[in-house]
Amino acid sequence: MTVKGAALEAAAHGRFDELPIHNPSIECASRERIEAIQLARLIDQVEWAYDRVAWYRERMDAAGVSPSDIKTLADIRKLPFTDKQALRETFPYGMFAVPLDEVVELHASSGTTGKPIVVGYDKGDMDLWADCIMRLVQMAGVVPSDRVQMAFGYGMFTGGFGLHYGLQRLGCMMIPAGSGNTERQIQMIQDYGSTVLVSTPSYALHVCEVGEKMGIDWAKSTLRVGLFGGEPCTPALKAEIERRMHIVCTDNYGLTEVMGPGVSGECLAERDMQHIAEDHFVWEVVDPETGEPVAEGEMGELVLTPLGKHAIPVLRYRTHDLTRVVTERCACGRTTARMQKVRSRSDDMLIIRGTNVFPSQVEDVLSGIDGVTPHYRIVVDNETGLDRMTVHVELKPEAFSDSFEQMDAFRRAIEEKLKGVLLVSSKVKLVEPGGIERSTGKTKHVQDLRKM
Ligand SMILES: [Zn+2]
Repeated sequence: MTVKGAALEAAAHGRFDELPIHNPSIECASRERIEAIQLARLIDQVEWAYDRVAWYRERMDAAGVSPSDIKTLADIRKLPFTDKQALRETFPYGMFAVPLDEVVELHASSGTTGKPIVVGYDKGDMDLWADCIMRLVQMAGVVPSDRVQMAFGYGMFTGGFGLHYGLQRLGCMMIPAGSGNTERQIQMIQDYGSTVLVSTPSYALHVCEVGEKMGIDWAKSTLRVGLFGGEPCTPALKAEIERRMHIVCTDNYGLTEVMGPGVSGECLAERDMQHIAEDHFVWEVVDPETGEPVAEGEMGELVLTPLGKHAIPVLRYRTHDLTRVVTERCACGRTTARMQKVRSRSDDMLIIRGTNVFPSQVEDVLSGIDGVTPHYRIVVDNETGLDRMTVHVELKPEAFSDSFEQMDAFRRAIEEKLKGVLLVSSKVKLVEPGGIERSTGKTKHVQDLRKM
């Protein structure tokens, strides 16, 4: 594979010490130093939330905890959790801790039900956000001379502007293409010599496919890095995009409620883990049912407390994302804790006839089958009174056949593989190449049509 650029060349040969580290005094600090910074900032943050946000003051008073009870990092467990509901109930400004004339930007996540979640940032919050972004893009080998084509929609969604400001502050040339119009995106890559593409992984694959149809030789393209976000990216999907587009792809993790993109990012040394910006976030991993901490390195639900975020202080936010976190030093030289990439969101889980099913499990099974694309859709209904799951699987052109027997055998083989992993049976429906709708934003893999 062609490795384009000095930073990526160094990474490809394991020379991680040649890669830039944005802030080594934090990113390579000892655990003691990181924890000391976290504790000092946590104490300030809890006080800030208590003094300025009635919602926190009421909950903390009810729990019998005051800011002066926070003396160690472990004392964070004395604080109540915050969840999405709290931000919905206080829509739009109830959780704000600064006067609105100090707020310089507003973002929101689209609520699938009810009100959206609104978050605001003051000037200091914007600086903090840009710092997080500068770290994670440099982990991916992005350098100030890069030309970054932003294929995220700008709008209220945090992904577009969040990455834009940090990349621009690093010195990159920003090309604000926005989402959609794939042929135009490809034309812009060629005209402007874009070197970095920011998009969801599924949209990058779509750009790749359309480019191939247009006769683009991606190996000769100026593009060298893909910065992904907005939806989970399986290793198989990332590997496929890297191979076909001749680029290096990393993804980052974040959520609107605690800031947006930039909570953690993937380095090039260990591709399944993401470094957490620990001086800006305290992480906890808890048992999703009991809320109690799990042992270090064990899977559980990620809980985040942003530090130094002033417009909306959020304490112990329950992400519903399942991960595990390790703290040993990484081969890239960084010492900040690393979280495993989030594959399943605990609230994305489907319960089918009493069994938990994650869309990521379906994705894993499909990625191991030749002849199918990474595009799929799960449709659940209970028209017959019983939960019924149908998985729409898109075929690659070479897997398509005129023989009904052959196609039916292929379909049944996929059903059997899915049953082996999911433990519940499902129906597979084969869809012709290109038959599953592509999305320019977050891909919706699940359509739940069940009536209560
Ligand atoms: Zn690393």
